[in-house]
Amino acid sequence: MSKSNIMNTYGRFDVTFEKGLGSKVYDTKGKEYIDFVCGVAVNCLGHSHPSINKVLNEQSNKLIHVSNLYWNIPQINLAKKLAVYSDHDQVFFCNSGTEAVETGLKLARKYGKLQSSTKNTIIYMKNSFHGRTLGALSVTGQEKYQKDFMPLMKGIKAVSFNNIKDLKENINEDTCGVIIEPIQGEGGLIKAEKGFLQEARALCDQFDALLIFDEVQCGIGRTGTLFAYESFGVIPDVICMAKGLGGGFPIGATLANQKASSAFSPGDHGCTFGGNPLACAVSLAVLEELVDKGIVDEVNEKSGYFVEKLEILKSKYNVIEDIQGMGLMLGIKVNIEPKSIVNKCFEKGLLLVGAGKDVVRILPPLNVKKEEIDEAFEILENVLADY
Ligand SMILES: *Cc1c(COP(=O)(O)O)cnc(C)c1O
Repeated sequence: MSKSNIMNTYGRFDVTFEKGLGSKVYDTKGKEYIDFVCGVAVNCLGHSHPSINKVLNEQSNKLIHVSNLYWNIPQINLAKKLAVYSDHDQVFFCNSGTEAVETGLKLARKYGKLQSSTKNTIIYMKNSFHGRTLGALSVTGQEKYQKDFMPLMKGIKAVSFNNIKDLKENINEDTCGVIIEPIQGEGGLIKAEKGFLQEARALCDQFDALLIFDEVQCGIGRTGTLFAYESFGVIPDVICMAKGLGGGFPIGATLANQKASSAFSPGDHGCTFGGNPLACAVSLAVLEELVDKGIVDEVNEKSGYFVEKLEILKSKYNVIEDIQGMGLMLGIKVNIEPKSIVNKCFEKGLLLVGAGKDVVRILPPLNVKKEEIDEAFEILENVLADY
């Protein structure tokens, strides 16, 4: 199999996957792996979930795509569902995390524009990750992602994450939006402090800027609540979602309150594939599974079980510095190259992924079974015992 036609943008493992079931994936040689990467927080119900497969089949026999020049039923129902489950009731649909962020950024710009011609600065956090398109990349506070793509967007300003003083010194009347990940995912599983988010909320209110939470990775049940903001008790104006929203099928969404969303009028924004009936029908099934079947409610208990085990590893092996993250978005901070642990786990049939410069990230499906946690844990302990 020649792989030379794929553009060279990823550092990949030398493996080709062919099928998956639940928490397991199988390569072309039939080797089984426990998948605790889940497409990087995408496969929240594991692989080949019967509810997803059923709706894919049924909806594809009805209607796969129709333009946003018209209405379609799954889009209306999914928007309604997101409104019912959250504090906001206005949704824009797209296909990915970066597009959900672009929507939030454009909404903030338009919101500012309606007030004054100079209200257009977007504040973002250092060490953040918001996506690869040029707008989202501009507010991604990590040099390695930005350096070869300069110049980036104008009207942006970086502040230190969790640093109230820095935020206070930089926010002003010209700020139209502040974008924050409640848990920095790619940046190394770093949680926002509740006090920082509360202060960001208060400052955005004071200066009439939109508070945007990027929940692309930490949303959709990962933290033990459907939306991450609920776990922190701070309600943003805009919420960007993708990854887990379709359980593996591509869909993104930007959810906003009336105050923010009313800035957009017809023609301001659009997305050809956004809100197509197939993606929306799948997402509806995923949300029903996660919420109505109580899977999200079990996240914290499973997390507790997992963290307890990780704490034991931490006390046994000096390579572990700390256990980070929240819910089923966990990280092991290590004092060696995380890649070396990830690679050894891979060899033994456990998929994990690095985050930041010193964290091994664990993102199991939200419906993971305790026995699967035990199984993964055994491999991890085996690997760590070698250091
Ligand atoms: C993955 C991610 C994105 C980008 O999502 P894509 O679907 O890859 O465009 C944006 N923000 C956060 C927090 C992410 O983790």
